[in-house]
Amino acid sequence: MTKRRLTILGATGSIGQSTLDLVYRQPERFQVVALTAHHRVAELAEAAIRSRAELAVVADPAHYPSLKARLAGRDIEVAAGPEAVIEAARRASDWTMAAIVGAGGLAPTLAAAERGGVLALANKEALVCSGPLLLDAVRRSSAVLLPVDSEHNALFQALAGRPATTVRRLILTASGGPFRTASLATMAAATPAEAVAHPKWSMGAKISVDSATMMNKGLELIEAHLLFGVAAAKLDVLIHPQSIVHGIVEYEDGSQLAQVGPTDMRVPIAHTLAWPDRLNLEDQRLDLAAVGRLEFEAPDEARFPALRLAREALQTGGGAPTIMNAANEVAVAAFLEERLGFLDIVAVVEAVLEGLAATSPTTLAEVLALDAAARDAAAAAVDQTSRQRH
Ligand code: NAD
Ligand code: MG
Repeated sequence: MTKRRLTILGATGSIGQSTLDLVYRQPERFQVVALTAHHRVAELAEAAIRSRAELAVVADPAHYPSLKARLAGRDIEVAAGPEAVIEAARRASDWTMAAIVGAGGLAPTLAAAERGGVLALANKEALVCSGPLLLDAVRRSSAVLLPVDSEHNALFQALAGRPATTVRRLILTASGGPFRTASLATMAAATPAEAVAHPKWSMGAKISVDSATMMNKGLELIEAHLLFGVAAAKLDVLIHPQSIVHGIVEYEDGSQLAQVGPTDMRVPIAHTLAWPDRLNLEDQRLDLAAVGRLEFEAPDEARFPALRLAREALQTGGGAPTIMNAANEVAVAAFLEERLGFLDIVAVVEAVLEGLAATSPTTLAEVLALDAAARDAAAAAVDQTSRQRH
């Protein structure tokens, strides 16, 4: 069997580490071409050594000497800087995990899409901010785009190759996050530590806050629209606190096919890693009798207006999702730095969406320009909001 050649963008993150965990288990099956990280060189060097990677890249050039020193005497190439991350994504490889967080992952993810092979997409922000551009690159290179996001991976599996345009509905489940039953007063006073403490999933800080505001599900509505080519009216969100049912496809005859699995990102990652085969993960066994009951409820758009904003951005079209995503990244960062209240995150996003014209970017440069304009507007809105609070 020839080894599948892999590149992991964002190797030190939550998704990157889960991917590496699967790779370490079956070294006879996989060869790591490149690993990239933003600045955590200790973890990056360790992963490069353990996975016998050919290339290790740190995006922040200030960390180049440290990475170089850690890998001295090893047969591993070392590089640094944002351009080197893009170069790594361009290297010949069969499979790329796009697991950088935020629109900062767009250029390397796009480079991997242009190169072709399997693109395992975790970096939903890259797709949301540049939808048509990224999909066009995938089409031109005949890359295979496989969703890693658990809900979209579930829908992909439940569709079993049928076009989503022929089904009645795609249902994205959502845990509801740490504030599912919280009052608005509790949410207004929420601290970063409380917002990041997700009841079911262990994830990076940014997506954890997005889960708490439910902007994550808003981004996922747009992600589903782009991945499966279905109208917003066919997309639904269903709260399911146990996070066991990950996605449901409803067919025209009323049948609903759901993908059910452990609450562990290694399961959808494994699906994309072995696709179209399956990996044998002995330790992943879901005991539904132990789970006992599965609960479902409708989302509350009054307490979680991010869902409405995402639907409006989809309806507006053009660059509205780009603006929404960029403003959200700035607002979440400000919240994590305690410069913004929890409920102000989505308020800032809404203000920026109202204030900026959603031009329709078609090139990477145009997407990045709109992203930058939205970031400036969001930074101003954050300043104004925090001045009003103090
Ligand atoms: P994380 O914060 O744990 O990791 C992010 C990774 O990206 C790190 O390796 C970091 O070094 C790298 N990175 C950050 N900024 C960078 C930059 N400017 N240039 C180069 N590298 C950079 O995040 P995560 O939780 O692993 O999430 C990664 C992506 O996967 C996000 O888009 C998230 O929405 C998506 N996702 C995550 C989960 C999950 O369970 N963690 C589930 C579904 C989707
Ligand atoms: Mg998800």
